[in-house]
Amino acid sequence: MTIKFKTIKEIKKMISQKEISNKEIVQEVYKLIDENIHLNAFVTLNEDNSLKKAEDLDNNPSDSPLAGIPIAQKDLFCTKGVRTTCGSKILDNFIPPYSATVIENLENAGCISVGKTNMDEFAMGSSNETSYFGNVHNPWGDKLVPGGSSGGSASAVAAGIVPAASGTDTGGSIRQPASLCGITGLKPTYGRVSRWGMIAFASSLDQAGPMARTVEDCALLLNEMCSHDIKDTTSLDENIPNFENNLNQSLKGKKIGVVKDLDLSSLDNDVVSVYEDSLKEFVSLGAELEDISLPNLSLSVPTYYVVAPAECSSNLSRFDGVKFGRRSENPKDLEELYIQTRSEGFGDEVKRRILIGSYVLSAGYYDAYYKKAQQVRRLIKKDFDEAFSNVDVIMTPTTRGPAFEMGSKGSDPIQMYLEDLFTISANLAGLPAMSLPNGNIDKKPIGLQIIGNFLDESTILNFGHMYQTKTNWHMHTPDGVKE
Ligand code: GLN
Repeated sequence: MTIKFKTIKEIKKMISQKEISNKEIVQEVYKLIDENIHLNAFVTLNEDNSLKKAEDLDNNPSDSPLAGIPIAQKDLFCTKGVRTTCGSKILDNFIPPYSATVIENLENAGCISVGKTNMDEFAMGSSNETSYFGNVHNPWGDKLVPGGSSGGSASAVAAGIVPAASGTDTGGSIRQPASLCGITGLKPTYGRVSRWGMIAFASSLDQAGPMARTVEDCALLLNEMCSHDIKDTTSLDENIPNFENNLNQSLKGKKIGVVKDLDLSSLDNDVVSVYEDSLKEFVSLGAELEDISLPNLSLSVPTYYVVAPAECSSNLSRFDGVKFGRRSENPKDLEELYIQTRSEGFGDEVKRRILIGSYVLSAGYYDAYYKKAQQVRRLIKKDFDEAFSNVDVIMTPTTRGPAFEMGSKGSDPIQMYLEDLFTISANLAGLPAMSLPNGNIDKKPIGLQIIGNFLDESTILNFGHMYQTKTNWHMHTPDGVKE
């Protein structure tokens, strides 16, 4: 009995039928981590605690919804007593005294947090090449990036080490690595999942969400991740449906918005044909296609690269050698302590963002850049509001292509920023969006993005699940197609 490539649903069944003990599951996870050490997917392991939790579960079985499910946690979530680095040198010795709400919610539901996954430094990146702890490799090809910033989480799930991982998405960091690694990942509506205990990058965009092999598993995880949290002032006090309930509804007569202003000409033909095939699949499931217009969509990347750095420059000011993590040695005075700690502790991409952010927020440029970006953000949101008055979901490719080679985009930040061309608008508008595997190009997986209306994760999950009942792209693994 192995748990490699198994889904949460499958592992739950194995546990309930006593085909495997909780301890054996955890032991196998660490064996798989060892066998896949070259992926560099984990920064810190939590082996003793995990084995202990599994043994406790074997002695006292629990009927919590995710009891005994091993999960990898992105190293951006604070975990009590377990090192949390956010992929940065500046936090390489930081051990938080508390856990993020997301971690608490998942652990209260029975999940076993087996380790912390590698990521782009402070979640800034699309390839995992900005991590202080080295590149993560994509299990679909050792030279390939796994995407970013939740690349370690995506790689660990894609390699079959764990059935699930947490991720965070500020501009695409759950969906783009899910697409490049052939798994399913969902960014919920802004405010659905508490940000408390998440190390902030851009607070008005950051949102945590599930990464797993199937849509069904994402629904199971989302059920537990969501909560109204008074410790996060942007946490929504809204009804949280059971996300499993709606999965099997018929798509007959439901409307899919197809964005006519999407510039598909810069994409390879293969990406476009994979996308069009998926739309046909949905039509055969009874859905209808409807052209929609999002006229300001092309402004989303430039808008994001004003708003996100602005918020990052403010959020990252707390890392000064005094409050958290590293402190530079022998500074001659306080100012030098700040300057040296930050110069030594942050990598190039983080410094670039802090500089851009400080610039766009500075007195002479605030109106020209930051205020303007906020106005454009409003227009993007308005475009979506209009589109959703006619359609149930909107579909686009998730990425412009499949996984690319390490080093191939690193020298040109703009090329890297364009990785999130299709994903960023959902963050700017606060909308839920998911990526799920919908084809292979040159033996590399690629994803379809389904964007939903505000708080309507259920409809996205319904579309995604129905697609996965008809296709088997989610069963493809780097080792072949699962039975
Ligand atoms: N790739 C984008 C960036 O570098 C998005 C990152 C994210 O979603 N955390 O900002």
